Amino acid sequence: MRNPLDTYRRLQRALRREFDSFTKVYCPVCPTPCCVRPARIAPTDILLAEGVGWTPRIPAPEGEDAVQRAAEQMTEAVFDGVPEEETPVPCEHLGEQGCTFPADLRPFGCTTYVCPYMYRHLDRNALARLRRMIRELERAHAVLMEHLHQRQPERLRILSRDRAS
Ligand code: SF4
Ligand code: SF4
Repeated sequence: MRNPLDTYRRLQRALRREFDSFTKVYCPVCPTPCCVRPARIAPTDILLAEGVGWTPRIPAPEGEDAVQRAAEQMTEAVFDGVPEEETPVPCEHLGEQGCTFPADLRPFGCTTYVCPYMYRHLDRNALARLRRMIRELERAHAVLMEHLHQRQPERLRILSRDRAS
């Protein structure tokens, strides 16, 4: 059986390549950039990236960590939404050259986001290809999450217990 993390990273790279020609042209001049808080980052995205040696660009305030912050942002996004009149605050993981996560371990929610400008500017074939690749990545992500919960139940329990205390 293939390593589910390798498969997930390979598909992230492929999807990234597919997005690249669009993002190079449109993102630098985007009127409503999408890399803002609350971002689509799950605690597992942070754990996977940390697992390959990544560290957050901006250290969390004392007493917090990146996993906690991701969990808070998710809660904020799901339950509170973002008031429209508020000035968007850039995502803390956005650097000069774009996202600072490992290129093949970007947060799952960010990687699978198809923005309104893509729908407007990409042709039907390109959008169909993107959707197909996103579905593939979604399946790989589900397999990876299941694998982590089956193989690492003790580690996950310890992590959630430590972070809750
Ligand atoms: S909304 Fe679309 S065009 Fe704008 S920054 Fe995000 S991906 Fe780029
Ligand atoms: S984690 Fe990366 S891709 Fe996601 S919003 Fe932040 S900078 Fe953008």
